Amino acid sequence: MKTIRLHPGRERSLLRRHPWIFDSAIAKGGGDPGETVRVESHDGKFLAWAAFSPQSRIRARAWSFDEAQRIDAAFFAAACARAIGVRSRFEIRSDGVRLVHGESDGLPGLVVDRYADTLVAQFTSAGAQRWKDVIVDALLRETGLARLYERSDASVRALEGLAPATGWLRGAEVGGAVAPPTELEIREHDWRLGVDIAEGHKTGFYLDQRDNRKSFADWVQRLQLRRVLNCFCYTGGFTVAALAGMRAAGVDDGEVVSIDSSAPALARARANLASNGFDAARARFLDADVNASLRQYLRDGARFDAVVLDPPKFAPTVTHAERAARAYKDINRLALQLLEPGGVLFTFSCSGGISADLFHKIVASAGADAGVDGYIVETMGAAPDHPMTLEFPEGEYLKGLVVMRKP
Ligand code: SAH
Repeated sequence: MKTIRLHPGRERSLLRRHPWIFDSAIAKGGGDPGETVRVESHDGKFLAWAAFSPQSRIRARAWSFDEAQRIDAAFFAAACARAIGVRSRFEIRSDGVRLVHGESDGLPGLVVDRYADTLVAQFTSAGAQRWKDVIVDALLRETGLARLYERSDASVRALEGLAPATGWLRGAEVGGAVAPPTELEIREHDWRLGVDIAEGHKTGFYLDQRDNRKSFADWVQRLQLRRVLNCFCYTGGFTVAALAGMRAAGVDDGEVVSIDSSAPALARARANLASNGFDAARARFLDADVNASLRQYLRDGARFDAVVLDPPKFAPTVTHAERAARAYKDINRLALQLLEPGGVLFTFSCSGGISADLFHKIVASAGADAGVDGYIVETMGAAPDHPMTLEFPEGEYLKGLVVMRKP
């Protein structure tokens, strides 16, 4: 067994069961990509079993802090079973569920989503990559499913020295048989939503926004909102939510405008309206840049009862935070200016580099610049199947505010 020894003082985070070991913490030792190494303090005390990653700044990620634990197939079977089992204790109203959320579930570099009867997995660390076969078998055994598609095409794989990899790992018959579909449908709340696991973003869908989409539907219903603007709509999750809210409120003259710069996402959004029985005349889809569209609406004097802002990650890490903060502030200022008094803004940041506190300040400063006063009527995060843990604060990434413009 290979050993890595840390510099004095660098054992502290591991003693708090934080799983990352940075290159700068290591005094000596190493291993092959993904190999399990014993991690010791400068004076030789056991700290963790970890997967070594020779190219990454995060040079090793801990699998276990228990010296008696063997890192083998049984370890991964137990870890997958634990992660999958705990989901039944969370309230999840969908058959689209995140079953494994990386470090938060004790499996650094592994993300697994279930879409109906198909699993989609992402292996983004050298350790997860090394144990891929064992992990895949454990997942299928634990869920009783037969199909697993790999979406290891996230850019972070490059930081671990891993090339992108996508395709069926299990469930596609070799040699002639028809491959299983990669276009699936999930039931989220009462809605049918199409998911493209091969071409969609991430593993196909933004499962983390599930509860916030429901909350949006409830606000639209309660306040009987009629004019909705859904920015960065992707496949129209918040659009479906808005129309569902209008339908529940008996509003039949509402309109939802949805903007995205991805044509395939917009096509799926249109299809999602049809599969939920919504009148196409109640929705408009714009293949456009959100920034330019918001400015144009402002020039035209348009106003909305509700605006959703769910942009892509502007700040992947804290080093991008300042420029990202300006970009967030800009779109929030424009959105607040477009809001009718009494209307609501659903605004999000999924940037790990922007804390909840900083995001709050950014939106506050957008309001000040817009000359708009607002109540913060709700704070939001990721759905519970994307858990945050006490020991891994980096697991917090998605945060959102519901701001009601003062009537
Ligand atoms: N709200 C969505 C997820 C949004 S993800 C949901 O609930 O599923 C962010 C989206 O922003 C992506 O679909 C991406 O195509 C789009 N996007 C990124 N930059 C954009 C821009 N400048 N203008 C319009 N859309 C953009």
